[in-house]
Amino acid sequence: MSDCILKVALDTPLDMCFDYLWPVAEGERPQVGQLVLVPFGRREAVGLIVAVEDDSDLPRDKLKPALALRAQMPPLSAEWIALCAFAADYYQRPLGEVALPGLPKNLRTAKTASLDKALKKLTKAVQPHDATPHAAPPLNAAQQVAADAIAGVAGFAPTLLYGVTGSGKTEVYLQAAAQVLAHSDAGHNPAQILILVPEINLTPQLEANVRARFPGVAVATLHSGLAEGERLAHWMAAHTGHARIVLGTRLAILASMPHLRLIIIDEEHDPSYKQQEGLRYSARDLAVWRARQLNIPIVLGSATPSLETWHHAQSGRYRKLELRARAVQDAVLPRVGLIDLERKAPREQMTEGISGTLLAAVRKRIEKNEQSLLFLNRRGYAPVIACDSCGWISNCRRCTAYLVLHKGDRRLRCHHCGWEERIPASCPDCGNVDLQPLGRGTQRVEETLQAVFPEARILRIDADSTRRKGSAQAAFDTVHRGEVDILVGTQMVAKGHDFRNLTLVGVINPDTALFSHDYRASERLFAQLMQVAGRAGRAAQKDGGNPAEVLIQTRYPRHPLYAAVRDHDYDAFAGELLVERRQANFPPFMYQALLRAEARELQTALDFLHAAMACIDPAGITFNDPVPMTMTRVANVDRAQLLVECASRPALQAFLKDWITALRGMKTRVRWSLEVDPVDI
Ligand code: ADP
Ligand code: ZN
Ligand code: ZN
Repeated sequence: MSDCILKVALDTPLDMCFDYLWPVAEGERPQVGQLVLVPFGRREAVGLIVAVEDDSDLPRDKLKPALALRAQMPPLSAEWIALCAFAADYYQRPLGEVALPGLPKNLRTAKTASLDKALKKLTKAVQPHDATPHAAPPLNAAQQVAADAIAGVAGFAPTLLYGVTGSGKTEVYLQAAAQVLAHSDAGHNPAQILILVPEINLTPQLEANVRARFPGVAVATLHSGLAEGERLAHWMAAHTGHARIVLGTRLAILASMPHLRLIIIDEEHDPSYKQQEGLRYSARDLAVWRARQLNIPIVLGSATPSLETWHHAQSGRYRKLELRARAVQDAVLPRVGLIDLERKAPREQMTEGISGTLLAAVRKRIEKNEQSLLFLNRRGYAPVIACDSCGWISNCRRCTAYLVLHKGDRRLRCHHCGWEERIPASCPDCGNVDLQPLGRGTQRVEETLQAVFPEARILRIDADSTRRKGSAQAAFDTVHRGEVDILVGTQMVAKGHDFRNLTLVGVINPDTALFSHDYRASERLFAQLMQVAGRAGRAAQKDGGNPAEVLIQTRYPRHPLYAAVRDHDYDAFAGELLVERRQANFPPFMYQALLRAEARELQTALDFLHAAMACIDPAGITFNDPVPMTMTRVANVDRAQLLVECASRPALQAFLKDWITALRGMKTRVRWSLEVDPVDI
């Protein structure tokens, strides 16, 4: 019996591994990748063994013995540890803060006995299911080319699947996946496939399709809505290789999948692939790295690719496969019309912000028994209420934000800090009882439509109407069953739904994003408009039915963004944006990192950022001035930021390494965090 040394990564901000003793009988050393329970300070913690050695830099009598090995599960692979190590290195975090939080909580915290119990229960949860199998529809020519091209390569081959809304990208993913699975089964070399989607709860259709298409295959799902027990079951199914397909949101990119052979990212441009707190990683970027590491193909699918991906495709670094037409026979892209609110034609009688043209189009759909969708990316009744006589407006006391009017439950709510209060009966400053709602949100649009079309069945879908678990799905089912004439909703309704009887999409007020200080705002608005427009006309046009139509209300009908939406011309729009980005030195032609600071007083945060600039030689790096964040105050905390830029990614990475070491050495009470490749600046 002698001792070996376990080098253990723990979930702490200290950027180091910790040494522990473990007694070994001959030939029985613990393995790298096993989880181990160790004493840490005054508590016990589960860590990841990253090396097993004979020696430590510390004297033996300073080392504590580890307490227990999690021997119930197979060790995590060297590739998985390397993925976490890459993410840790790239995003400037300790390895333990990347590797451990992503593991199911039961593995990290549970006592061995209760873990044993949970792991027995497990296997049942992720079984092949006996859903009625669905035969795959025959692919059209373009789809077939794409599916074969994806499944036909063995090595690293990043591929953009660029296909208009409704072009049948999902079908391409599924048939490429089927080919990869069949091929691997024939070679007795089981494969696993990872499919990432922006949202699972909102788009259960995809999950149902996957299960129906692969009836003999265990499918695991990983997303933040799972209960702990479920998460453990699904995670383990992926880790043991039992689940051949893993369908998940961004967090699934860190799932352990020992036989991973293909990665698919649906709607790769979607902002939700970026984690916006804690470890602020991009699941899309990590996915590309992971595919390269494993030397496997990866597919990035979108009708409106991110400019980063588009740039790679244009420069030939990514292969581009194109689907130009809708897959369903006789289904065509909707006609896009712009309703000019500035030069109101006489018939543009406005009713509570909705034009006569749009209302007439809705009426026509109701008469023909077709559905309409009115899109407005703002929930609540009105974004603010105001007093006409003294100028008071409903500011949140704790944030740089307005309190939003929610009329139904008579509350004012802050959508940023959660503060809420009753609607005041009169102006708090001057006593005027006539407080006015300004602007409009989905609730107000719903109210207006109900007044104009008293007979119509109207359904609002937004974060407020779908708070209860399962209620979003129930709402979408109602639409699919045809029990809704007019659907009113936020971006929740724009994502991925295949509404078969929807022939009109109205966009109420998209203009604000045109003038945002955020240079990504127009890229996002364009993607959002194309996506919501893509909900219309997905079925074959009925004889005598209206051609599917998208009507956008705007004060700037001549803006190039709307012209591109009208022409369904992503190529031209993206081309222009890339030229602008290159001229202005913005990503993807520049690499960025953002240092954020939070304090009770804005000045404290700014002072910290100035000190952070002064603590290092900025050779080759551009420091911008520290500035308050656009929404400076949230929940009584002031926030400021410092943007650093560099034209070379390796040079920026090298700088960040030194900088973070210097920052960690600074004595400060300011809360700070560093984000690499920020998207909201
Ligand atoms: P996308 O993801 O590109 O927007 P979907 O994958 O949702 O498009 O496909 C749009 C519709 O076309 C779906 O209803 C799908 O069932 C149908 N579809 C896809 N491929 C085919 C095909 N080859 N033949 C018939 N219908 C198809
Ligand atoms: Zn007043
Ligand atoms: Zn607030």
